[in-house]
Amino acid sequence: MNGLRASRSVLPSLSKIIIPLNMPTAAATRKRKQKELFPHKVTSVTEIIPGVYDFQIERQFDFIPGQVVAVAISHDDEPRLYSIASATTDSRMRLLFDINPRGLLTPKLPLMTPGDTLLVSIPFGRFTATHDAAWWIATGTGIAPFISMALSGYHMDKQLLHGARTPAEFYFADLFKEKLEERYLRFATVENSPEIQKGRLTTYLRTLEELPLDIKYYLCGNANMVVEVRDILIEKKVPFANIVSEIYF
Ligand SMILES: Cc1cc2nc3c(=O)[nH]c(=O)nc-3n(C[C@H](O)[C@H](O)[C@H](O)COP(=O)(O)OP(=O)(O)OC[C@H]3O[C@@H](n4cnc5c(N)ncnc54)[C@H](O)[C@@H]3O)c2cc1C
Repeated sequence: MNGLRASRSVLPSLSKIIIPLNMPTAAATRKRKQKELFPHKVTSVTEIIPGVYDFQIERQFDFIPGQVVAVAISHDDEPRLYSIASATTDSRMRLLFDINPRGLLTPKLPLMTPGDTLLVSIPFGRFTATHDAAWWIATGTGIAPFISMALSGYHMDKQLLHGARTPAEFYFADLFKEKLEERYLRFATVENSPEIQKGRLTTYLRTLEELPLDIKYYLCGNANMVVEVRDILIEKKVPFANIVSEIYF
């Protein structure tokens, strides 16, 4: 009896605790804001190779190179995420995407014209640039965050490994050649050219006897590449904490 009384007397105070727990935390508020979409004017839509677009909008928010935005055409659509591929100082914000023919959003984006409205979130994400030494590793449009980092002055002490099928898919190659010089390595699986190694970047990584262990490795692109590279780095004793990944799914 005494025990029952004791537990009853505890109940009101528990419910008092539960109410504050349900109140929005700073993290929950941040998450809700990330989902909020704001109208942005489209400024240009350029097909850079068949099926791949440089898509620019007016920039409304500051960001850290490497961050993403959520994008939709209508408030009824589930937003998709895109890495920002422009400089922090640019008045426009560039997104780089390839068309997924069966996708909801990407087949519609190239139909937009300057002056149209795209719904875009506040930039967010933890795949962010630092000035510390690092290797950047990307496939396909996974190069987007590194374009932003290079254009925003984060290219010192960086080495970039970019993998693609064909040489045409090395978007912004001139930028990386200028900023990184011989620290810009390209791997094409289908063709090669004097400046481009034939084969996959994962094969190249496996051939390296030793990797620097005290730097960060930024991996960005499709899940297969990111998971494979992560496994290779771990096999080669790179601490897990030094691997920063952004998977495009
Ligand atoms: C953090 C992050 C950053 C990204 N950054 C970029 C970037 O910079 N550039 C870029 O090009 N992409 C990026 N992506 C990928 C991007 O968000 C989209 O997923 C991609 O552009 C496809 O969008 P979509 O709406 O056209 O296709 P979706 O509608 O998402 O469809 C993709 C595929 O899934 C299939 N599918 C869709 N719904 C279903 C379903 N219910 N059941 C079965 N199959 C289904 C479709 O048939 C299609 O083949 C990023 C993703 C993430 C997570």
